[in-house]
Amino acid sequence: MPDTMTIVTLREPSRAPQTFPTLTPAQIARIAGHGRKRRFERGEVLIEPGAHVVPFFVVTAGSLQAVQPTREGEALITIHRPGQFTGEVNLLSGRRALVGERAAEPGEVVELTREQLLTLVQTDSELSELFMRAFILRRVELIARGVGDVVVLGSMHCAGTLRVKEFLSRNGHPHQFIDLDRDTDVQALLDRFHIAPTDIPVVICRGDFVLRNPTNQQIASCLGFNDAIDQAHIRDVAIVGAGPAGLAAAVYAASEGLDVLVVETNAPGGQAGSSSKIENYLGFPTGISGQALAGRAFNQAEKFGAQVVIAKSATRLDCDKKPYAIGTDDSLGVAARTVIIATGAAYRKPAVENLERFEGTGIYYAATFMEAQLCRGEEVIVVGGGNSAGQAAVFLAQTAKRVHLVVRAPGLSETMSRYLILRIEQNPAISFHPSTEIVALEGGDHLERVGWRDKKTGATETRDIRHVFIMAGAVPSTEWLRGCVALDAKGFIKTGPDLTHEDLAHAKWPLARPPYLLETSLPGVFAIGDVRAGSIKRVASAVGEGSISISFVHRALRE
Ligand SMILES: Cc1cc2nc3c(=O)[nH]c(=O)nc-3n(C[C@H](O)[C@H](O)[C@H](O)COP(=O)(O)OP(=O)(O)OC[C@H]3O[C@@H](n4cnc5c(N)ncnc54)[C@H](O)[C@@H]3O)c2cc1C
Repeated sequence: MPDTMTIVTLREPSRAPQTFPTLTPAQIARIAGHGRKRRFERGEVLIEPGAHVVPFFVVTAGSLQAVQPTREGEALITIHRPGQFTGEVNLLSGRRALVGERAAEPGEVVELTREQLLTLVQTDSELSELFMRAFILRRVELIARGVGDVVVLGSMHCAGTLRVKEFLSRNGHPHQFIDLDRDTDVQALLDRFHIAPTDIPVVICRGDFVLRNPTNQQIASCLGFNDAIDQAHIRDVAIVGAGPAGLAAAVYAASEGLDVLVVETNAPGGQAGSSSKIENYLGFPTGISGQALAGRAFNQAEKFGAQVVIAKSATRLDCDKKPYAIGTDDSLGVAARTVIIATGAAYRKPAVENLERFEGTGIYYAATFMEAQLCRGEEVIVVGGGNSAGQAAVFLAQTAKRVHLVVRAPGLSETMSRYLILRIEQNPAISFHPSTEIVALEGGDHLERVGWRDKKTGATETRDIRHVFIMAGAVPSTEWLRGCVALDAKGFIKTGPDLTHEDLAHAKWPLARPPYLLETSLPGVFAIGDVRAGSIKRVASAVGEGSISISFVHRALRE
């Protein structure tokens, strides 16, 4: 037993019955059918904190203490009594256990291996719902309490610190943050680890490893995010990108019995994961944050058995032999009979300080009815000289007090359709600012002021404007495909009926049938979501394409 034990209490005790439910005898009997009974002695450690691929226990006699090592000693998270069970989301993904389990008194458990638990959640819907809810609520509590195996030391004014915090948060990994700008006692800690200011941010991983300004890949590796995933065997389908499209494809593929591996550069959720509130996604009338949606989708995919490799980028597709091979930045690679490309697109972002800080609170990348309501009666800025910017300016001018169309080029004729230029010229609510660029974004919780500069005269001006629409175009993430599939002029992937005879002839399309809907010029390789030419850049359409693609994957696998 440690010298110091703190007790972590639930933030919302009203949720205790869902977070730590007590199973009925009938439910325990069903679980016991998948595992084995075993006795334990007082003080016996059933799960070491930090161990990976740990078993699952249901207590049938005695009790277990769920504990977490802390800098001061140990925190008691909860006591599992008869009818209660161990585990949280890392149990499903096979990642390292954040919480250990130790016997407080002699007793008995039903023990299931992780594989046995996965089989149970896929076949028993009542228990699946109960476990999933408890695991997710437990993780939410750990995050809220900062009870985890990672401490980040950094400054909120340091881009590296923000990157690391975003990586951990978007991967739903609980961590403690020590703000070096505020915490005056931290110097002793820094000295203990011989940390110089240039090493910031520092990540102390699992209490032992000190990572100095680490890459996301180094953090994922230290935390063992991908340790339980066998990357060597050939998959039915490999999905590149875990945005809404890739996650939807993973859920449908895994739930339909396919062996699925997803490869993701950063964190589940893609662009949608950076949205503070998605209000137009079906079934969420009060909106849902992109991160919450991504977290749920990720857990859903894992529940069905899909495996998601985090912090790994596809750098190459070997397309001249089958099974296809996807080269990755850690050189391990992935082999698969079919491939789904769901790498999305990154919106072009002007290099202006604070842009990301105000995303969703004054900076927008879409001008729909929803955004128009947000800025009704106010002045807005639209940045960009293409058709999307022109459409947005004309649309927003219906409800905004004034629309400032800001363009770096001296005119619009090179980049915008004539009909849109005429509408802009004739609309008294639109002011056109050629040869102008945004240079400053200021405010508190919301954008409040914008500075722009006339590139010809160098004169700058600051206006009290709270809404800026960035319509500078999107860049598809297709550079890694290097000629394997046909692309349109802007680099988006052409699929199905959009592929011309010339495209197919050039790609040496080998089959008698034409490409399926969403199939690229390479048989058995599909493209979905924002990366696909002509797709509607929305969460719902990305999810829809992800689900549709799987029916064609089945057909391609049968060929
Ligand atoms: C701030 C913001 C707010 C938005 N709000 C809304 C909204 O309210 N409603 C709405 O309908 N739409 C919204 N959108 C648009 C919506 O998010 C996108 O249409 C949607 O996310 C597209 O999904 P996707 O899976 O096709 O691509 P993405 O979301 O772009 O996901 C692609 C994923 O692939 C990964 N990836 C890229 N390259 C590689 C590689 N080489 N190897 C491995 N992984 C790779 C990326 O890291 C990313 O996670 C918003 C977009 C943004 C940026």
